[in-house]
Amino acid sequence: MLRGIAASQGIAQAKVYKLEQPVLDIVRRSADPDEELAKLDAALTRTAADITRIREAASVQLNSAELAVFDAHLMMIDDPEFRAQIENTIRNDKVCAEYAAKQTAEMMVMIFEGMDDAYMRERAADVKDVTFRLLCNLCGMEIPNPAMLDEPVIIVARDLTPSDTASLNRQFVRGFVTETGGRTSHSAIMARSLEIPAVVGVKGILEATRNGMPLILDGRDGIVIPDPSEEQVSAYALKADAFRKEREALKALKDKPSVTADGRKVVLSGNIGSPADLESVLESGAESIGLFRTEFLYMQCENDFPDEEMQFEAYRSVLEGMHGRRVVIRTLDIGGDKKLNYYSFEEEMNPFLGVRAVRFCLLRKDIFRTQLRALLRASVYGKLSIMFPMIATVEEFREAKKCCDEARAELIAEGIPVSDDVEVGCMIEVPAAAVNADRLAKYADFFSIGTNDLIQYAMAADRTSEPLSYLYQPLNPAVLRLIKMTVEGAHKYGRWCGMCGEMAGDELTAPVLLGLGLDEFSMSAPSVLSVRQMIGTLRYADMQQLAADVLECDTDAEAAELLKKAVGKQPQTVVQ
Ligand code: PEP
Ligand code: MG
Repeated sequence: MLRGIAASQGIAQAKVYKLEQPVLDIVRRSADPDEELAKLDAALTRTAADITRIREAASVQLNSAELAVFDAHLMMIDDPEFRAQIENTIRNDKVCAEYAAKQTAEMMVMIFEGMDDAYMRERAADVKDVTFRLLCNLCGMEIPNPAMLDEPVIIVARDLTPSDTASLNRQFVRGFVTETGGRTSHSAIMARSLEIPAVVGVKGILEATRNGMPLILDGRDGIVIPDPSEEQVSAYALKADAFRKEREALKALKDKPSVTADGRKVVLSGNIGSPADLESVLESGAESIGLFRTEFLYMQCENDFPDEEMQFEAYRSVLEGMHGRRVVIRTLDIGGDKKLNYYSFEEEMNPFLGVRAVRFCLLRKDIFRTQLRALLRASVYGKLSIMFPMIATVEEFREAKKCCDEARAELIAEGIPVSDDVEVGCMIEVPAAAVNADRLAKYADFFSIGTNDLIQYAMAADRTSEPLSYLYQPLNPAVLRLIKMTVEGAHKYGRWCGMCGEMAGDELTAPVLLGLGLDEFSMSAPSVLSVRQMIGTLRYADMQQLAADVLECDTDAEAAELLKKAVGKQPQTVVQ
């Protein structure tokens, strides 16, 4: 049995599917040219067939412009010039096909990387991709591709990028386990909203498993059992059943208000990453959308930033789908652990402290303007609130707001209708913004506290780091004081204050947030009903006192103990 961080609830039992890139060890070997040429031709045919199959599977989700990348890969594999180069090396140097192909590939990459034209330079990545596939085929190694799954599996990987997680095939992926990562890394957040059970930060999982081995994953207690015994299989089948029944029972609260036992009403909202998540939010009983992470739209595009039209359609569909209920759409938050295939960020020593989120948008106002225009055009289809991520200063907020005002003026001058009831708010995720909340509240219509980042910046601990996951301390007095200042700053100017970080959906911490006066709690959809149930059992007046007592604790652990006694829930935070 291995332990890790419980990242997404639920229990799964299925075969292991390892998502690991093969490591190729290609050495120069002399060989018979005719045999090597036959091997090369077979590998070229196989590679073309692989790309065609992947293209076919991707065609369900991608449009023809996005599929063009596969066409380019096929053209390269079918190019007689490319084959001729490898053949020359095989014949002239009498070397094995994989060595000759590797030499040719490296030379091509060098040529592309040395080109003046930025577009052509970026094609080097395509050359690497295609030739890696060819080399794997020459060496008899398989490149895993979860898009091609046809049976239930649990993915085991060193790490999953947010885009890997977004593209997991939910029909067959029953859960995932990673060696690295923390509870608030984006792949863990996505797993929760996709309702895929997950345990992250499991040291040794790659070594302990092989493809096809049965595995139990308990995403509630952070436990992974490779090759389980029959008793373990039956015990976990019962546990999974109990979990399903618990979730079923909660459905009775779906259309009920979120109100404490003594009558204080709060708003429970859902977090989404794309219009496709709308259905689960509507199903979850959430009253509104408190965070639409728009960067996933950008990450799904293969070749370029999404244009105004494509974004407009996405925002419009979500606003229409919510039928007049509030939708908070966050402007692009790219950088940090979120990358784009088609854009090379400048190398930075500390990407989480670098050109990220609104900082990127203020440096690339052309990209920002396209998004703001799309958002404002969509505003007439529902109740839109726009918010800017990672604001550190009042100047940044004012500048971002000015871009928004300019986009609005431009649209109006073009005769395009824009709602005049669009709130423009500020995420509070940088400690400086929390401390200055009573200044920012003069300018922002609302706040939403991003605790995933607020905690990483308050603790100076990378949120994706497994060894530092003990510093994810939502109940640390430093964090609670920042939250208190933010709520008070907002209320001083009559603004509402929400929270869209993972802390808002944690049953252990929600009572303190309630007591601190938080107005809105936005979380991954599956958490809404359990938080609603808990809120219904609490008295606001008691929670105000409890929050005051918790703020007196010296440590996160003391605060957790106090809360467990007062509210009787186990911490969901870090289960090591
Ligand atoms: C946060 O930081 O808490 C947040 C909601 O934003 P993200 O997790 O996307 O950085
Ligand atoms: Mg954030």
